[in-house]
Amino acid sequence: MTNYDVDLIRRDFPILERQVYGRPLVYLDNGATTQKPRQVVEAMTEEYYNVNANVHRGVHFLSQQATELHEAARETVRRFLNARSTSEIIFTRGTTESINLVATTFGDAFLNEGDEVIVSEMEHHSNIVSWQLVQARKGIRLRVIPITDEGELCLDEFEQMFNEHTRMVSVTHVSNVLGTVNPVKRIVEIAHAHDVPVLIDGAQSTPHFPVDVQAIDCDFFAFSGHKIYGPTGVGVLYGKESWLDRLPPYMGGGEMIRNVSFEQTTFNDLPFKFEAGTPDYVATTGLARALDYVSALGMECIHAHEQELVRYAMEQMSAIPDLRFIGTPKEKDAVISFLVGDIHPLDMGTLLDRLGIAVRTGHHCAEPLMHRMGIESTVRASFGLYNTKAEIDALVAGIERVSRMF
Ligand code: PLP
Repeated sequence: MTNYDVDLIRRDFPILERQVYGRPLVYLDNGATTQKPRQVVEAMTEEYYNVNANVHRGVHFLSQQATELHEAARETVRRFLNARSTSEIIFTRGTTESINLVATTFGDAFLNEGDEVIVSEMEHHSNIVSWQLVQARKGIRLRVIPITDEGELCLDEFEQMFNEHTRMVSVTHVSNVLGTVNPVKRIVEIAHAHDVPVLIDGAQSTPHFPVDVQAIDCDFFAFSGHKIYGPTGVGVLYGKESWLDRLPPYMGGGEMIRNVSFEQTTFNDLPFKFEAGTPDYVATTGLARALDYVSALGMECIHAHEQELVRYAMEQMSAIPDLRFIGTPKEKDAVISFLVGDIHPLDMGTLLDRLGIAVRTGHHCAEPLMHRMGIESTVRASFGLYNTKAEIDALVAGIERVSRMF
């Protein structure tokens, strides 16, 4: 931790020097998206200026160089997740597309009327609606793991949910509202004991602590580039080769085929079977540089820094009269949702913004969770690797100031 120099790190993120309404920007909306270091933006600019050519297609020099960068990025992702092989790393547009890919193809191949898919009460809409679309087509049943008032999964009830119809468990690694870090290894153990595969939504875990898909032993794992200091529009689906081999293609088009005729078309090998069309090969380079960036800092060090911020923020915020935390699990990541008295989150968010403080307000794409907690929305402060205690002090002072106005 002594080597973690947050002032030095912040210099890599030009946007953090911005002023908003004449005040220094305090960016606490990292759960929605993170800011990008120069290293990411410069690598992408360099590729557009000096390398740009379509990948996998050309015999010419630039195409080969672009292909090498794109495939090297896949290897960087493989290493980051500790996947066995690059065949298990599929580039998508983000977590949402990764989950939809699994729901659609798994649904087509393996789900029939009466089959059951288990999700939880704390899922992001992307891990609910993707399965509801399958439900509409196939007549499956969604089962929902309840959560405690503190925001932890009820594992005992989860264990009781398995029966001969259970086909898939799809849960989030970290809640984007509560900050709850779910015991995914245990969840996978329980599901595998019933021969049921598990998809983990890693949108909110990959940016904050080391993830090892082999150690978790999950069957699928999804995350987004833009939430881990990489570009928008690129994400990853990890899948065990044994599962990906058995799933049908998701979209049809160039690159995902081996041969095409009007009589019969055959499909390409993994991972290309799931990558129809021109990929965002510049964004994959950007994602790789982002993963290099966080890996060089050390995911353990980032985690320690952010845990210290969460601890400090919870402590400072606890002293604010009428402030109520939504989500007080034992294992909590860099997300704090809260309400103050009966101040509407939108009012709080708007007034904090005037002080230069960017937080999120609303249902955070988790309406069922809001219903469970008996609320409509929250204010959410979510931290990243560049946030500081001084910024938390600014947040606390801002909340107090807004509270006094009401
Ligand atoms: N899952 C969780 C837990 C999230 O927090 C988010 C985004 O906020 C998503 C999925 C969707 O990610 P994306 O919009 O990058 O596809």
